[in-house]
Amino acid sequence: MAEEKTQKITIVDPPEGYSQPGFFTTSLEKAVGLARKNSVWPQPFATSCCGIEFMATMAPHYDLGRFGSERLSYSPRQSDLLMVMGTISKKMGPIVRQVYEQMAEPKWVLAMGACASTGGIFDTYSVLQGIDKVVPVDVYVPGCPPRPEQLIDAIMQIQDMVGKESFRKRSSPEYLALQKKYGLETL
Ligand code: SF4
Repeated sequence: MAEEKTQKITIVDPPEGYSQPGFFTTSLEKAVGLARKNSVWPQPFATSCCGIEFMATMAPHYDLGRFGSERLSYSPRQSDLLMVMGTISKKMGPIVRQVYEQMAEPKWVLAMGACASTGGIFDTYSVLQGIDKVVPVDVYVPGCPPRPEQLIDAIMQIQDMVGKESFRKRSSPEYLALQKKYGLETL
């Protein structure tokens, strides 16, 4: 007789709100945050070995689909999260920036590994010493390469930021000043 298997399916926690038997209320901002954080669409920008760890993270053992992020975009206009994974040469810097600029707001950026974060071991004339020279970064993942667990932890940090983000953030003076610092056009 086939061994009986039990599956435990957990449902995401509801947003902060007020509930009584038969009803639940919350703010629109929290409801949108809950939906966004559980459906982050990544735009992978993998140039070298860190990309292989990313592939492992997508594969069934780690399965980024558990976080609602299995839909890789490969189209900047249909993605929320730019994931830069690998060594970025100075020639490649403007391309990373172009991809970032093509993404619609709200958008987030993750730098995976020592190379994307700081240039890593490639302290040379041709390698960009961190993608934050060309685009603002939300989460850095240390390591050479980082393990899939680290990448998952970073995705969860991004999810936390996405879920808590205020509707006003993208038009706040702080955010506009950050965009201006990078010479990026604001809406
Ligand atoms: S951080 Fe290490 S593993 Fe990642 S791209 Fe650079 S050299 Fe490769």
